[in-house]
Amino acid sequence: MAPVNGCIPMADQLIDGFGRVHDNLRISVTDRCNLRCVYCMPEDVSYLDKSELLTFEEIERFVRVVVPLGLTKLRLTGGEPLLRRNLPRLVRMLADVSGVRDIGLTTNGLLLANYASDLYNAGLRRINLSLDTLDPDRFRRLARRDGLTETLKGIDAAIRVGFAPVKVNAVVVRGLNDMDVVPLARRARAEGWEMRFIEYMPIGAEPWERGKVVFAHEILDAIESEVGPLRPVEGYDPHSPAMEFEYEADGGRVGIIASVSRPFCRSCNRVRLTCDGKLRACLFALEETDVKSELRGADDPRALADAVRRCVLGKWEGHEINTSRFLKPLRTMHAIGG
Ligand code: SAM
Ligand code: SF4
Repeated sequence: MAPVNGCIPMADQLIDGFGRVHDNLRISVTDRCNLRCVYCMPEDVSYLDKSELLTFEEIERFVRVVVPLGLTKLRLTGGEPLLRRNLPRLVRMLADVSGVRDIGLTTNGLLLANYASDLYNAGLRRINLSLDTLDPDRFRRLARRDGLTETLKGIDAAIRVGFAPVKVNAVVVRGLNDMDVVPLARRARAEGWEMRFIEYMPIGAEPWERGKVVFAHEILDAIESEVGPLRPVEGYDPHSPAMEFEYEADGGRVGIIASVSRPFCRSCNRVRLTCDGKLRACLFALEETDVKSELRGADDPRALADAVRRCVLGKWEGHEINTSRFLKPLRTMHAIGG
């Protein structure tokens, strides 16, 4: 079958029933978090027992099996990944796996100032921080914790140690932080962050309403009228979930992840490993493939590879957020890995 997402299929690659080639693995290292963002996790969360989390060695063994299948681009996430003790050690272990092309991290940045340089030296090169507002009160309302100052320090540290670009993600929820789009875009432009606005998805603990989604076109209109005219970036990575734009004046970049109004399922190239060792072919998947029992049991690389292939083959065509068939997954975002 011809690939639909632009990758060239090779013998062992992970191709699903719709011809999509998978090269991207998101690895959640913890379900714990030092914030409680209202769109992501409940306040009264119960965490997994630590014994249920994959160890670094188990994650590394898994990666060694899936890299030859084409999953060569890795991203660490959570929960808050920097709460996992000694994360730079895991980065180093994964960077040493032959065939790994790229390692990224998504973090709320609260602890980043302490770890940015160790992470960089361990081989991390891509970093995405999450920041939904520059207003301390709204930060507290959105994240149900303080942390604005620490996150800004984390962004500064990332820039200082040499991460480039530093991408800053904001989920936009109507009535909560839609008024922050313009200030965030302005600040990002001034400081050289690559700002990415994300449409609010039904994957958190709060009841989701379409009316709370601030759609891509609204975000673009606000930026264009208040910050500066934008044009689409030519030739941006077709697998990127973000639509990429640049300011006509200076080429500074802005991305919009329009998962609701313009789903990118047709070009999806990702699978996700949860911190407790379940493989998910889609963020919204209702089924998971247990790879931990294989890693802790027979530990047969061939059986593990077969389980990964079956998981990818069973991937559905796309999430159905925009249909009446949509069913919310049982786990919320922090426990899946965003
Ligand atoms: N704690 C880290 C952080 O916040 O960057 C990593 C994990 S977090 C689950 C990963 C990303 O998912 C963040 O950028 C967050 O804003 C995004 N996210 C969480 N819940 C979301 C939702 N309901 N809709 C859209 N994006 C969401
Ligand atoms: Fe924590 Fe990230 Fe979820 Fe916020 S979005 S609660 S920082 S995991």
